Amino acid sequence: MNNKSVLYQKYRPKNFTELIGQDHIVKTLKSEIRNGEVSNAYIFSGTRGTGKTSLARIFAKALNCGSLSKDIDPCGVCSICMDIDKGHFIDLIEIDAASNRGIDDIREIRDKIQFSPSIGNYKVYIIDEAHMLTQDAFNALLKTLEEPPESVIFILATTEINKLPKTIISRCQRFDFSSASDLDLKKYFDIIILKEKYAISDDVKSLIVKNGRGSFRDMLSNLQKIAHFKDELSYDDAVKILGLPDDLKLQTIWINTLQGNIVDALSGSSGENLQSQFFINESLDLFRRLLIYKVSGAKDTYVQEFEKNIGIDISVQNIINILNILIKSIDNLKLSSFPLLTVQLAIVEVYNIFFTQKDIPNFNVVVNEDKNPVKTDNVQSKDDVSSKKSQPNGLSKGVPSDVTEKWLSVIERSKPFNHHMSGFLQKSSFNIDGDTFILIVPFKFYKDMLVEEKSKEFLRSLLKGVFMRDFKIDCIVDKSVNPIVTFKKDPKGNEITSSINDVFDVEE
Ligand SMILES: [Zn+2]
Repeated sequence: MNNKSVLYQKYRPKNFTELIGQDHIVKTLKSEIRNGEVSNAYIFSGTRGTGKTSLARIFAKALNCGSLSKDIDPCGVCSICMDIDKGHFIDLIEIDAASNRGIDDIREIRDKIQFSPSIGNYKVYIIDEAHMLTQDAFNALLKTLEEPPESVIFILATTEINKLPKTIISRCQRFDFSSASDLDLKKYFDIIILKEKYAISDDVKSLIVKNGRGSFRDMLSNLQKIAHFKDELSYDDAVKILGLPDDLKLQTIWINTLQGNIVDALSGSSGENLQSQFFINESLDLFRRLLIYKVSGAKDTYVQEFEKNIGIDISVQNIINILNILIKSIDNLKLSSFPLLTVQLAIVEVYNIFFTQKDIPNFNVVVNEDKNPVKTDNVQSKDDVSSKKSQPNGLSKGVPSDVTEKWLSVIERSKPFNHHMSGFLQKSSFNIDGDTFILIVPFKFYKDMLVEEKSKEFLRSLLKGVFMRDFKIDCIVDKSVNPIVTFKKDPKGNEITSSINDVFDVEE
């Protein structure tokens, strides 16, 4: 027995009650037994470590046990139950299709199934990794499934249902096993550490549960590796011993990257303990989960926390762009002699998506005439351009005098610090009412971002720098808002300058 799987074997669920997760499948199987409507062939499909083989054995036990509980659970103490637990029961035949994949193996089954079960009610064949069978073997199996003897039941377990012929699938009752939820993994984990009397801190527990990735087997394999540490293990030790990525560090690197703190992001990644392969794989998992969360809205506290910490709204398209960069990095890592460089290139590429696109620095500015007039009390209207040169209000040199120009300056000044806000402001308009600066934005998610205290503080300081006053910030959503200025991408730098000067009547 593989040393790593000792715990998994020891704590394999022995009846339906002990099995955690897959409730809908258990319910259906129990009801089939209760009503005497058992099928001749089943497919148990799902990723590894989700309980397919365990449930197949429990089902075989329930079909043959002479003293089922009221709840259709096998008794666990009769000779049949005990033989099945020990792997000795003559009417339960387990075949590993990875090593018995040929037509002869299946023919042998066909010859044998003509005989009635020796002891139990049913002869049960569990074919593990069924997708590994050869085409000839599938054909032979199909003939068997077409005319199966009453008392024979096939259970085909597979991690790759797409490799099974449709003709086989259509003859079977199919159950799709879902990956274990973190909640289910944690439940199972708690039961085992209680029984084994392991002392494990909560953060180490979370680390192991999260890295189970929906597989009971993988989770217990990691638990096994740290099980012999008698004293309570620190989080850092667990990260090292298990060779797992440090989540905290990983998230900090990406938060810095997405917030534009590229220097911090890169120096965080150059620490001695960064394992490139893990970092990229874990990052892929992180953004994959973020994508699923954004698209489906399915609850995922892990990525919700991450998104909150980033503090900006990342579009689905940009998450896809990030994933593509990371996928490319996996290939690059295989060839690279400098894995750290590959990781850092990926970080810079992601940073580039957000912070060095050319569409913002190179622009034409067009004032949107007669649209969305800006109402202000003591700030000049944008139409009052002609008087700006004789501005009497004592504004310091370099501060624009006209409202539109001031707005442009706010947008300009926001760019080096917060590319996202700069983008939002470009698509927005505003009114000034007394001491309140009312931002008019086209989308609710702009508002959601802009009303965050951090964003408000940033905007307040920008406005103060340009308008030389303290504002309260308010924000309203108006889908039909016309931005005060329109930015057009223009690759020719000279033309851009002149067009800005034209608009603002700047003397050469
Ligand atoms: Zn029994």
